[in-house]
Formats: sequence, C-alpha cells, structure tokens
Amino acid sequence: MIELIGVQKSFGDFPVLKDITLNVKRGDVVALIGPSGSGKSTLLRSVNLLTVPEKGFIRVGSQAIDFSTTRNLPGDKELASFRARTGMVFQSFNLFPHMTVEQNVMEGPVTVLRTPKADAKAIAHDLLTKVGLADKATAHPDSLSGGQKQRVAIARALAMKPEVMLFDEATSALDPELVGEVLSVIRSLAAEGMTMLLVTHEMAFARDVADRVIFMRDGCVVEEGEARQVIDHPKEPATQAFLSHFH
Ligand code: ATP
Ligand code: MG
Repeated sequence: MIELIGVQKSFGDFPVLKDITLNVKRGDVVALIGPSGSGKSTLLRSVNLLTVPEKGFIRVGSQAIDFSTTRNLPGDKELASFRARTGMVFQSFNLFPHMTVEQNVMEGPVTVLRTPKADAKAIAHDLLTKVGLADKATAHPDSLSGGQKQRVAIARALAMKPEVMLFDEATSALDPELVGEVLSVIRSLAAEGMTMLLVTHEMAFARDVADRVIFMRDGCVVEEGEARQVIDHPKEPATQAFLSHFH
C-alpha cells in the first residue's frame, strides 16, 4: 500500500533521509521509532509529499512518483490526488478554532470532495460517533480537552476517506491521562484494517498494536521487523541502546 525505494532528502547540505526503502502492506500497522532528529517526521511527511524528496520512488495505493526520473516536481493536480490518499494527524491538533467540531469534520468533504452538505453532516456524525464524540458536534475546539481535540482531528482526517493514515506523535502533546483515549481510537482503526504508519514514543502501544516496527537513526532504517521481536529482542546495538531508555 505504501512503498518507498531509495528515498533521499536533505535540508541544505544536511542529509536527513539517506536511502530509505520500506513497504507497508494493505491493512498493516507500522510503527516508526527512533531518537529525536533521526528523520521520522521527514519520512512521514515524504509519504504525502508535504516534504518533497530529491531522489527515490514513492507509491501510495495505485499512484507512484519516481523522483529519480522526474525532472520537474509533480504538478498541482498530481500532488493533490497523491495527498488525498493519505490522512495525517500531527502532534498539534490544528483544528479550525472558529468552526464547531462538526464543521471541522465536514470542511474537507464539502470544500475538497464537493460532498453535499447533508451527506457531509451524516459522515461527520458517523465519524464523531466512532471516536466517541457525537455529543460534542456543536462544541468549539477550545472547549475540548487535548484528547478530545485529537479525536476530532482523527475524525477530520478520516472524513476524506484516505487509503492510509499517518500519525506523527499523535499523543505526545497530551496529558498522560488523555493518551489512552486517543490510542484506543487508533487501535480500533487498526482492528478495522486501516493501513497506518505511525511515529510514536509509546513503546508498549507499538508492541501491541503494530504489526511491524522500524527503528531509524541518522536518516537510515537501522532495524525493522515484527513488532514484538524488535521491541523485546532488538538485534542492533543502536536499537538496544534506544529502547533501554524506555524500560
Ligand atoms: P523528533 O523525534 O524530534 O520529532 P524526527 O525523527 O521526527 O525528530 P525530523 O523532524 O524528521 O526528525 O528531523 C530530522 C532532521 O532534519 C533534524 O536534524 C531536523 O533539524 C532537520 N529538519 C527537519 N525539517 C527541517 C526543515 N524544514 N529545514 C531544515 N532542517 C530540517
Ligand atoms: Mg518528529
């Protein structure tokens, strides 16, 4: 479902993604772990081309872009259709503060997908029910807890009917007691078969929910494998050193 081959990205002279090759199969949940600055966010952003790599091949679903042969950046239309395949949830919730919860979820379908308002409202209702917030439809984001905001952000991303979901430390900004409610929504998406690539510092969650774990350091994939294998019995010294901070 997601395929990266030889992806490279530098900021100035500084290589942030050195030669990334990875594969996420349909329905798989893959957790990306690694120290700060290892390139996890840049990798995630490359999957929906919020960051455009210099080199490499990226496929999401049936659409692929080969940056090694493409002299020109993809056109706006190609970029937009590529991005529409992925839903992304960030550490900061980025909700529209002047809109209600329901309007936040309806906005994408109405303005981008041209979904009729009544249909978008029904979709929003279903998704808010799924994330346990049907009763907050008419509330404004500033009246919600961080965990509730993040669940709205997930509903909003799902409203665009993405083929894959990307989560970049979706629970890192939350108070500890609010982490569980967001992880449980992610867990239920996993159970429904949503393909997901998630950056997380929640090792217990990665171990339980992810099918596979990828450990990155210095812009490279250092180790990758079945989640329990990598987290409980890492092979590489760098992975062992990183994981020792969490025990
Ligand atoms: P963290 O765990 O702290 O979120 P990360 O693994 O997500 O780290 P990235 O955000 O991908 O790391 O950053 C990798 C490196 O690229 C860092 O050294 C960072 O400073 C640099 N970097 C990221 N984005 C930019 C940018 N827009 N311009 C310049 N340098 C950048
Ligand atoms: Mg990051």
